[in-house]
Amino acid sequence: MQDRTLTAEVTPGDEITVAGWVHEIRDLGGIAFLILRDRSGKIQIKFEKDEMNDEIVQTGLDVPRESVISITGVADDEPRAPTDVEIVPTAIEVLINTPKIVATGTEGGTELFPITYFGEEAFMNQSPQLFKQLMIGSGLERVFEIGPIFRAEEHNTPRHLNEATSIDFESAFINHAEAMDACEYVVTAAYQGVAENCITELETLGLRDGFSVPDESFPRISYQEAIERINATGELDEQLVWGDDLPTDGERALGADVGSHYFITDWPSEIKPFYIKDHDDDKTLSTGFDMMHPQMELVSGGQREHRYEHLVSGFEQQGLDPEQFDYYTKMFRYGMPPHAGWGLGGERLVMTMLGLENIREAVLFPRDRQRLSP
Ligand code: ATP
Ligand code: MG
Repeated sequence: MQDRTLTAEVTPGDEITVAGWVHEIRDLGGIAFLILRDRSGKIQIKFEKDEMNDEIVQTGLDVPRESVISITGVADDEPRAPTDVEIVPTAIEVLINTPKIVATGTEGGTELFPITYFGEEAFMNQSPQLFKQLMIGSGLERVFEIGPIFRAEEHNTPRHLNEATSIDFESAFINHAEAMDACEYVVTAAYQGVAENCITELETLGLRDGFSVPDESFPRISYQEAIERINATGELDEQLVWGDDLPTDGERALGADVGSHYFITDWPSEIKPFYIKDHDDDKTLSTGFDMMHPQMELVSGGQREHRYEHLVSGFEQQGLDPEQFDYYTKMFRYGMPPHAGWGLGGERLVMTMLGLENIREAVLFPRDRQRLSP
């Protein structure tokens, strides 16, 4: 959180955090200035390249104009700066949120909450998917967002909310296997962070002894193998066949069999969304993957279809009108880098990490079929 507006009084030597829009970047070689703007005015941020951490210099000077960023640094007197003050940064964070009121869905029409938007039909966004991809196309090579998603889930289960938090990642120039590597890394790092920094909290919850950080190499199991293994457990009344979605009891049976976090890969193309790429050598197989905790799905991801003609024909095959998604497909006509990514359910991560019985215990004000207030 920022401490102050950009033009508030400050004492030289103070450490402060400010946030605003990138108004201008002036790179003079050894020294560069970023002018940050908010409703109150502007402030100068100084980068003396040889004297600063390279990562800070790069983040600060590569960020596109009008990006929203937050900067922590030390204030200094500088009569030539717009407010007589400049900041020497010690940390920079790029803040990006995608819109939550949208014109179309991404994950299938039935789970959309409709709203009225000045007389027009609109929806609460189910996923930042299409917007993450637009930002990849705009030249932001890697995109991260932690934000709300809204799902009109009809059923009442211990692992579904109607308002949830999605931890999203998207990167240009990687494939689905590399996206899986990043997913393993992030989940393992989250466990490690909790193990190292939340000792008191784990003790309070009585979890200190049982808490273990997963091994970073989550097994990768194909969908074909997954249905065979589920069928072999004998837990289901009916045998699964190719093309079936995995039922909850099937996921549990397989999870018990595997015994750790794992991936399910190579799904039938027809049950993965339109924006996921099929394998080049077998169009019936999707590069989509799910990352599973033994009890439930935590992540869905995949390599994205970046070729315009393939994307549009995928829409038609799924009975969607490409015209409605013009805002999305337009970008692909001008050339889109190959890219991949995923979305991780924040509450499900907390729930499985802490062994909570119900996802509602991981949220302050859960939204479900019965609960709209408080
Ligand atoms: P499920 O089949 O378990 O309902 P999904 O496949 O519909 O999940 P995705 O669209 O793949 O969900 O969303 C990515 C991730 O976001 C999921 O793996 C899950 O962790 C989380 N998520 C999705 N919907 C919900 C929800 N209603 N409540 C809580 N988390 C959710
Ligand atoms: Mg999924």
